[in-house]
Amino acid sequence: MLRVSNIHKSFNGVKILDGITVDISKSEIFGLAGPSGSGKSTLLRCIQDLEKPDCGMIERNGKTCFMFQDFQLFPHMTVVENLLYAPNLTGEKNKNEQRANTILMDLGLESKKYAYPQELSGGQKQRVALARSLMINPDILLCDEPTSGLDVATTMDVVLLLKSVCETGVTMVIASHDLDFLTKISDRIVLLKNGKIVVDMNMSKYDDPINYLRKYY
Ligand code: ADP
Ligand code: MG
Repeated sequence: MLRVSNIHKSFNGVKILDGITVDISKSEIFGLAGPSGSGKSTLLRCIQDLEKPDCGMIERNGKTCFMFQDFQLFPHMTVVENLLYAPNLTGEKNKNEQRANTILMDLGLESKKYAYPQELSGGQKQRVALARSLMINPDILLCDEPTSGLDVATTMDVVLLLKSVCETGVTMVIASHDLDFLTKISDRIVLLKNGKIVVDMNMSKYDDPINYLRKYY
């Protein structure tokens, strides 16, 4: 579904990604762990073509969509306008509106349809950002720190929500420094450190994955 081969990336002479190779399968929830500054966002940005690797290759099977850490909602637009803005530039407006309504319903946002971003809680903004990502019907969803700034209960909602999206056949790559969250949601976790993958674990094979990962942190 997504193949990353030997990616290298430096900023100002400092190596951030030092030969990253990984294969991600369809409908996998792939967790990207690592301390702050380890290159998680850089790797996601390379996958989305927002950043050009110095060398290496990325092959994707289908459409990717990037969900930003700070949501990047348009502040002067309502929730539904945020959802419709990009799709309406090219697509069919009626169809887009129907899809927006369905997604808002699925994500429990129908009562917030005409609210502005500043009227929403952090968790609601996160859901709107997810709803907007789903509008383009992505095959691969890249989520950068989807729980940053959320409390524990809201984080659990995000876990359930992302899992339900994955069940619709979307492949997910989730970068987070929060091991507790990542181990709850992921099928597989890769740990980045000093530009390299130091752990690649299939979650079903570990009884205490957090403890195992902490040893490498
Ligand atoms: P993480 O998401 O794991 O916290 P990042 O990928 O954001 O890590 O950043 C890794 C390192 O690369 C950091 O030291 C950061 O300052 C640096 N970096 C990221 N983007 C740029 C950029 N556009 N220019 C210069 N340095 C950058
Ligand atoms: Mg980051």
